[in-house]
Amino acid sequence: MAAPHLKIAEENAPDLEALLLAQKKACLADPYPSHAKRIERLDKLHNALLDNRARIIAAISQDFSNRAPAETELAEIMTLLDGIGYYRKRLKKLMKPQNRHVPLTVMPASVQVQYQPLGVIGIVVPWNFPIFLALSPLVGALAAGNRAMLKSSEFAPATGDLLKEIIASLYDEDEVTVVTGGVEVATAFTALPFDHLVFTGSTQVGRIVMKAAAENLTPVTLELGGKSPAIVHDDFPMEEAAARIAFGKCFNAGQICVAPDYVLCPRGKVEAFASAYAAIVAKRYPELRDNKDYTAIITERQKARLEAVLLDAKEKGAEIRPINPKSEDLSGTRKMPMTMVLGASDDMLVLQDEIFGPILPIVPYDTLDEAIAYVNGRDRPLALYYFDWNKDRAGEMTKRTHSGGVCINDTVSHVGADDIPFGGIGPSGMGHYHGKEGFLNFSKAKGVVRKGKIDAASFVAPPWDNFMFRSLKTIQGLRFRRRKIKPAK
Ligand code: NAD
Repeated sequence: MAAPHLKIAEENAPDLEALLLAQKKACLADPYPSHAKRIERLDKLHNALLDNRARIIAAISQDFSNRAPAETELAEIMTLLDGIGYYRKRLKKLMKPQNRHVPLTVMPASVQVQYQPLGVIGIVVPWNFPIFLALSPLVGALAAGNRAMLKSSEFAPATGDLLKEIIASLYDEDEVTVVTGGVEVATAFTALPFDHLVFTGSTQVGRIVMKAAAENLTPVTLELGGKSPAIVHDDFPMEEAAARIAFGKCFNAGQICVAPDYVLCPRGKVEAFASAYAAIVAKRYPELRDNKDYTAIITERQKARLEAVLLDAKEKGAEIRPINPKSEDLSGTRKMPMTMVLGASDDMLVLQDEIFGPILPIVPYDTLDEAIAYVNGRDRPLALYYFDWNKDRAGEMTKRTHSGGVCINDTVSHVGADDIPFGGIGPSGMGHYHGKEGFLNFSKAKGVVRKGKIDAASFVAPPWDNFMFRSLKTIQGLRFRRRKIKPAK
């Protein structure tokens, strides 16, 4: 039975149940949208991204008080256009039923897997990439033939309003719709009996969302966070590692689910890494206050949280090294300098909670085994970054650690590789989207057996002591003559 509808006290609260009902009805009327229909839906989105490029950049920047326009172009628009292009090219093949093996006991028949749209997908969106993380799951959902309801983040209200306007201009409300609102709306939204729910946000709220979905037995894809390590091998040049780590860490001022959270650095190289990191960050962001390239923190509350993390580390004895090349006074802004933390210990917040901002602890290690044990001793992260030219060691690293995804000699770029699945593991999430796995995630892989005019079952049917059943047993006996399989030596 569906969970009772939750009343929302928020002003102008949307009638979520009515929206879902309308979408479910529309699904029944068109349960299997054609390839052409799905492409048409994707094309509309593609064109809207091009038409609204400047407005998207402006809205996100308004929400952040400053978001580097290039970051929005790269991470919210270009990646989406790539993702849409991926499905435009491959959708026919993905939709095609697959013929599968027909066992003797089922013969004669055809055996297939058919990929059916699930129905209505709920998508809960965080604030950090408020367009990409709304539309990227939507692209997968539409490619698989679904309809969708999106809930935008209350902490990116200008973008939420723009998204709502764009989507309303492209699709009927019973096709795709966006709802805005705070936690109350989000709570009622996640209590709806969707056919699938995608939640992108914190691990803490992910737990609440999964409980709410369980009431309806709604399957979930949870895209959560965590502490993604960057491990630098002793042989790897520290300037190179610093430059590559800085790109992923400074992007969106560290407010990325897959940002390198901390660096595991060979003990004797910590100082070399720290000075290379300070130099490259200062070169890329020579000033902070009026620098459009340097993104601000989303809210005062988040900024205060990050400052408290630094204070906690400082009070417990860590060394705090901000990278503020012109020593600017940033008060009155929501900008925070990228800050390295040296000498951090496990009792400090900086090594406990996901950082999600411009703070980088550098943790020394003595042996690679010790670094691996450090990672394996903690929650499974969303991403792991390993810096080593040696391919064998890199291969070992991916086998000996668990994480949602991996980049070797890079950070964050796996999110943009549209042909590989994206998703966490354990506390960093479950399920995948992007690429083929995204299509599968939003489809029911339905097993279908089709029999023809010959009804083989009638030949073997009881009474069981009949010739056909005895023959079947003989044939099976001949095929599997060595009934027990000997273990391989
Ligand atoms: P959040 O968990 O606070 O909020 C995410 C969404 O959940 C918002 O839309 C919010 O309205 C809604 N929400 C809040 N309380 C809720 C409740 N009780 N029930 C149902 N919904 C509720 O996360 P955030 O602060 O917006 O984003 C930051 C977090 O998201 C970080 O932990 C980050 O790592 C994670 N994240 C993960 C990915 C990923 O792809 N894995 C991407 C971006 C961000």
